[in-house]
Amino acid sequence: MITIGVLALQGAVREHVKALAAPDVQVVTIKHTEQLETIDGLVFPGGESTTMRRLINQYGFFDPLIAFANQRKPIFGTCAGAILMASEIVGQTEPHLSVMDMTVERNAFGRQKESFEVMLDMKNVAPDIEAVFIRAPIIQSVGANANILAAYEGQIVAAQQGPFLACSFHPELTDDDRMHQYFVQMVRESVKQVHH
Ligand code: GLN
Repeated sequence: MITIGVLALQGAVREHVKALAAPDVQVVTIKHTEQLETIDGLVFPGGESTTMRRLINQYGFFDPLIAFANQRKPIFGTCAGAILMASEIVGQTEPHLSVMDMTVERNAFGRQKESFEVMLDMKNVAPDIEAVFIRAPIIQSVGANANILAAYEGQIVAAQQGPFLACSFHPELTDDDRMHQYFVQMVRESVKQVHH
C-alpha cells in the first residue's frame, strides 16, 4: 500500500483524490503539516498560486514542504501547483518552493479565451491526453535535468525532473486519469527504491 496526499488548502482537491484511486493507493487530503510525514507522494492542485502561497505561509507549510521535496519524494503540480514548484516566475523577483528547474509565466495561455481543451501527445504516458487549460501558465523553459513531456503550440505544458512532475493544465478535470496514474507509478517506484 502506498499513500498519496493532496494539499488541501485551496483548489480542486476532490477531483485529484478521485483520479489517484488505485487498489494499492490510499489517498489523503493534507490539511496539517504533520500529515506530510505519513505520505509517499504529494499533489499540488490548481487554483490560485498567490492564494495558495499565502495559505502555505499561514499554516506553516513552507519549510515542511521544502523538507518533503528535499527527501526527493514525488510531487505532482497542476496549473497553480506547477507555479508553486517553479524555480522562476516571469515578472516576480522570488519563486515559491523552487523544487523544479523551470521558468513559468502565469496566465500566459488563453488570454482571449479563459479556458480551452485540447488533445496532447504526452511522452511516457499516451498520445491522446485530454487537457483542460484554465488561465494556465506556460513553462517557458526547463533546466538540463528536466524532461519535456508535452508541448502545445510550441510551448511546454508538461515536464518532469526526477521525482517532480508539473503540467500547465488540469488532468483532474477529465475522466482520463492516465496522467495521475503515471504519477502513482512514479510514487510506487520511489517507495520501492527507498525499501531496497
Ligand atoms: N492563474 C492561476 C495562477 O496563477 C492558475 C490557474 C489555475 O490553476 N487554473 O495561480
